[in-house]
Amino acid sequence: MIRRAVHTVDVVVVGGGVVGLATAYNLAKRGVKVAVVDRGIIGGGSSTRNASRFRVHFGNVENTRYAIEAVRELDRLKGELDWNPMIRRGGYLWLFRDKESLRAFEEVNESVWRPLGVLVRFMDSGKLEDKYPYLNSKLYVGAALGPQDGELHHDYVIYGYLTKLKEMNAILLDETPVSKITVVNNEVRGVEGVGAVINARVVVITAGAWSGELAKTAGVELPINAVRKEIGITAPIRFMIEPSLIIDTRVNAYFGQTLRGEVIGSIDIDEEAGLKPFNNTLRWLKAWVKAMGEVMPISRRLPVIRVWSGYYELTPDNSHIMGRLDSWPRGLYVAAGFSGHGFMFGPLTGRLMASYILDGKIDPLMEPFLPDRLVKGKLIREHLVIG
Ligand SMILES: Cc1cc2nc3c(=O)[nH]c(=O)nc-3n(C[C@H](O)[C@H](O)[C@H](O)COP(=O)(O)OP(=O)(O)OC[C@H]3O[C@@H](n4cnc5c(N)ncnc54)[C@H](O)[C@@H]3O)c2cc1C
Repeated sequence: MIRRAVHTVDVVVVGGGVVGLATAYNLAKRGVKVAVVDRGIIGGGSSTRNASRFRVHFGNVENTRYAIEAVRELDRLKGELDWNPMIRRGGYLWLFRDKESLRAFEEVNESVWRPLGVLVRFMDSGKLEDKYPYLNSKLYVGAALGPQDGELHHDYVIYGYLTKLKEMNAILLDETPVSKITVVNNEVRGVEGVGAVINARVVVITAGAWSGELAKTAGVELPINAVRKEIGITAPIRFMIEPSLIIDTRVNAYFGQTLRGEVIGSIDIDEEAGLKPFNNTLRWLKAWVKAMGEVMPISRRLPVIRVWSGYYELTPDNSHIMGRLDSWPRGLYVAAGFSGHGFMFGPLTGRLMASYILDGKIDPLMEPFLPDRLVKGKLIREHLVIG
């Protein structure tokens, strides 16, 4: 018979990605006895498989407001965690091949960004050529630069939270898959799996793309679909790509340069949903290399040195779900479904979730993302999903 370790805590957080770690950290800071449990290596989900970029430019007021505060939270991490998140603000450069998509972007600027004081600089193809000579500017009718946007280093944020959680004596269990959320008389009592039983009156699901299957064990339906996304980097070259991210909006491909000089990026290849294995396909590689060579002819000589994949966790409106519903078992919470932009939202989400769980406080930024929007059909449709 396998003997399982038994732990008793106030709150168990299932899923040790950026969202789970940030939630656990903000709870532990307030004296809560917390456990973080992960089926694999803590941080080994999408949180260390992403492109590590952040932006404030989203397609609606709710996500843009959330992003503005989320980026402030990233800045605050510098002073809070012992690891430097290595923030660089090179801006996001959006490239438009036709007037229609440029006009659609200008409309979002008028209706969402300008009223919120979020700056965007539009430029024609002549200006694009002057400013970014390495781009094939003749492909584009215009571009828009979001100068506030940028990149950070995901590993340092993850290690930063982990280090703090260890210092605060949180229980950190890796290689421990949770197979079931235990519910008795409509109240959660903890979680269990082959490796451990963790007793707790509060369970927070932060299991990324796997959140739907986990919630089901407590009788809760969460509409979160995993879609595998492939990504790669080239050999390093001299640092020259100033914008943190260049997005060709027609083919939904993106490219940036890491601080080590590698070109990093991806392209959307319309992958079907499902928890597919973390591997890579020739179809994706060919599409990405072709798009990169078209946008930046200089990249044609660059060898791709590493490719990998992770999941986008897509909700019906491409916006995340955080909080709980009264119809759920008491003590059950969720923060998941970040739809491809969850690294930048993770630290803020952790802070807001801790305050919601401990004080019952629904921050105005969080309110639109409560799960009741899915029941009431008040969707926050986000069309600016990159890659
Ligand atoms: C290629 C790619 C590029 C991206 N680029 C960006 C970007 O530039 N900027 C950005 O902000 N976001 C980006 N993202 C999205 C971002 O990475 C995710 O939205 C974010 O990391 C989600 O964090 P999370 O904590 O919710 O989930 P995850 O990091 O996936 O963590 C969930 C954890 O739950 C664990 N788990 C699951 N089921 C169980 C179980 N039953 N028991 C125990 N543990 C379990 C998993 O092992 C995993 O570690 C990108 C994603 C990908 C794939």
